[in-house]
Amino acid sequence: MTTTVNAYAATAPWGSDAPLTRTTVERRDVGPAEVAIDIKFAGICHSDLHTVSGEWGDVTYPIVPGHEIAGVVTEVGSDVTKYAVGDHVGVGCFVDSCRECDNCKSGEEQYCTNPGMIGTYNAIGRDGKPTQGGYSDAIVVDENYVMRIPDSIPLDKAAPLLCAGITTYSPLRHWGAGPGKRVAVIGLGGLGHLAVKIAKALGAEVAVLSQSLKKMEDGLRLGASEYYATSDTDTFKKLRGSFDLIINTVSANLDMSDYLGLLKLDGTLVELGMPEKPMPVPAGALIFGRRSLSGSLIGGIAQTQEMLDFCAEHDVTPEIEVIDASYVNEAYERMLASDVRYRFVIDNSTI
Ligand code: NAP
Ligand code: ZN
Ligand code: ZN
Repeated sequence: MTTTVNAYAATAPWGSDAPLTRTTVERRDVGPAEVAIDIKFAGICHSDLHTVSGEWGDVTYPIVPGHEIAGVVTEVGSDVTKYAVGDHVGVGCFVDSCRECDNCKSGEEQYCTNPGMIGTYNAIGRDGKPTQGGYSDAIVVDENYVMRIPDSIPLDKAAPLLCAGITTYSPLRHWGAGPGKRVAVIGLGGLGHLAVKIAKALGAEVAVLSQSLKKMEDGLRLGASEYYATSDTDTFKKLRGSFDLIINTVSANLDMSDYLGLLKLDGTLVELGMPEKPMPVPAGALIFGRRSLSGSLIGGIAQTQEMLDFCAEHDVTPEIEVIDASYVNEAYERMLASDVRYRFVIDNSTI
């Protein structure tokens, strides 16, 4: 048996002539280890847009995007131990993984190698059916891939933490952002503004590297102590050798020779945005400074829970613009124009 729920889906590569439209999807009955979630809010991540536009390869249409899911448990399976009806919970970018490979066993399920995590959308679930994401009224997920949302975080503000929050928290923790460390964040969008807030809460000194100074007031209010325009070539001269860690949230191809030079000795630049084209890497910038270029993919289930608890404790929440579902296509256009302050969140009661 299945339940039919309302959703927003792309039926073809997204664009002005192929917008997301209202539709329905089927949700399976709750299995023994699963919970059913009434989705209250879903954040809009730029990855949703990359995916439904077909920029990241094969897509099975129709596709319901959304992997920043916050809601309330409405039903639990007979073997569920972690959650009860009425609990506030979240689901992020994946809904399952093999649970057996080294990465799954060490809580890095996002790097599952067997054959990989099962995405919240645009993947095939264990039931053999395409997974469909959070721009919908409800979802059924294994309890081991669900996080608890602390009471102090309202559900609309919790949603973006499930992707943008963990994607920035994970590398900030991995590379030791904290007191005495200088961190730069490239791009003040959904990920970037949370990177600023989380890095500041971890005790680091934070600088924003944005295309212009348009959002400077916001950046400083969010916790940065410095703000620079990357359109100004002086920025790169002035900041040479300044940072221990640079978090790059931009998906456009940036000139790595400019940015790697901003790292101190042993500094690391972490790629979060995935450029469409391969990036030329100037080896000299790495060699003369023992610098590293790395990347990071979301975070594991346990660390996502840790991030939610950290955000509750440090009062870190995203700046959001709550929208009706019918506004989703305009929201995508605005995201493309870097006109997001700083995350769109769908009120799922309007789907
Ligand atoms: P977003 O809200 O659109 O923010 C991206 C920001 O990048 C913009 O606000 C803008 O900031 C800057 N930017 C945009 N176009 C640019 C250009 N041509 N040159 C330089 N800067 C530009 O997107 P998001 O949701 O934060 O996602 C950012 C990227 O991370 C996306 O590619 C997404 O797919 C990826 N992502 C990766 C992971 C992961 O696990 N690694 C997880 C989630 C998302 P300024 O206006 O301040 O310059
Ligand atoms: Zn995302
Ligand atoms: Zn695995």
